[in-house]
Amino acid sequence: MSTVKHVLGISGGKDSAALAIYMKDKYPSLDVTYYFTDTGKELDETYQLIERLESYLGKPIAKLESEDARKSGQDPFDYYYKVFRGYLPSQQARWCTERMKIQPFEAFVGDHPTLSYVGIRGDEDREGYLSRKPNIQAIFPFRRLLWSADVTRLVMDNTKIEHVAELYASEVNSQALDVVVQTLRRPIEQIANDRMGNARRMSEKIDRLLEYGTAAFNHVVFRFLKDTGLPMSHAEDYALLDNEDVLTKSDIVRLLEDSGVGMPGYYDEKEFTVGEQKGTYARSRSGCYFCFFQQRIEWVWLYEQHPDLFAKAMKYENEDEGFTWAQGESLKDLIHPRRIEQIKAEALAKSKGKSSNRLLSILEETDERECLTCFL
Ligand code: SF4
Repeated sequence: MSTVKHVLGISGGKDSAALAIYMKDKYPSLDVTYYFTDTGKELDETYQLIERLESYLGKPIAKLESEDARKSGQDPFDYYYKVFRGYLPSQQARWCTERMKIQPFEAFVGDHPTLSYVGIRGDEDREGYLSRKPNIQAIFPFRRLLWSADVTRLVMDNTKIEHVAELYASEVNSQALDVVVQTLRRPIEQIANDRMGNARRMSEKIDRLLEYGTAAFNHVVFRFLKDTGLPMSHAEDYALLDNEDVLTKSDIVRLLEDSGVGMPGYYDEKEFTVGEQKGTYARSRSGCYFCFFQQRIEWVWLYEQHPDLFAKAMKYENEDEGFTWAQGESLKDLIHPRRIEQIKAEALAKSKGKSSNRLLSILEETDERECLTCFL
């Protein structure tokens, strides 16, 4: 009987929603706890998605917020907005994610060995959430490499080469074993000031090992972790070791549509006109309606599609103190008719040349700065 907890965070974005559906369909015997860290300021479309998901999953999604915010009786954002004396969060000072997302999640998990499922897709090249707590281990079921970077660094450590080679002996045939051992024995050079180079070399080495079987690699890592004290060491077995699936954007869209849960509503393209020309806009990601990561055209979308929320976002700004959501521009200035025309014209120019499939075009727009905790 496994003593490991399985948790999966729903951000309100498409990838985490699809992962929840995938886990329920493919691994129904795993007891996964789904959770959502609520800021109280999400779009209605996000809350609707959560409801549809709950009905598909057949169980509630835990709504997490900090104890302090809960006791205050206010929305978490409003509580912390006062704690920070009206200082709005920004890319440079992102107290919002820390206080409203990460801390409540870590408190919820406590000290129990926990596997946290993260929906980074097989067609993405990014690492995602790495826990600061040793009892939380991230797992990535949509990509070929199931394991997080902290785990692969341990397994690929030059001092562990012979131990990993021994573990491989019972996972592959003798012919493959020779090549695997040769690959393993190529040490990853420790070159000072070349961390990126070392990371690339490690990833190449792992890719080569995966060519000899994803399942074989996973079983080796699983057995390796037994001696580490990491969360996976507490599991007697693990259903995902034989998983060879790699899911990309089109698979995610299909999973959501086929399940009946559907894409989050804020992806729906709405038409706008600028001069004689027509364009379309939508919100490109989940998160708070006033999120400072959104593009100018998304602010215009909010103003025109959710004027009530835009008015609320304006109330948080304090121009005298320089506290504005968008850098260098207040929302009052952003909705001047001439400015709106300009933003739409720029968005239209930017969209030219993109695929006519607007949904996928939007999904393809990635922003490296975005917070996976809020948007995945
Ligand atoms: S969605 Fe944006 S504003 Fe909301 S918590 Fe995340 S980073 Fe902060």
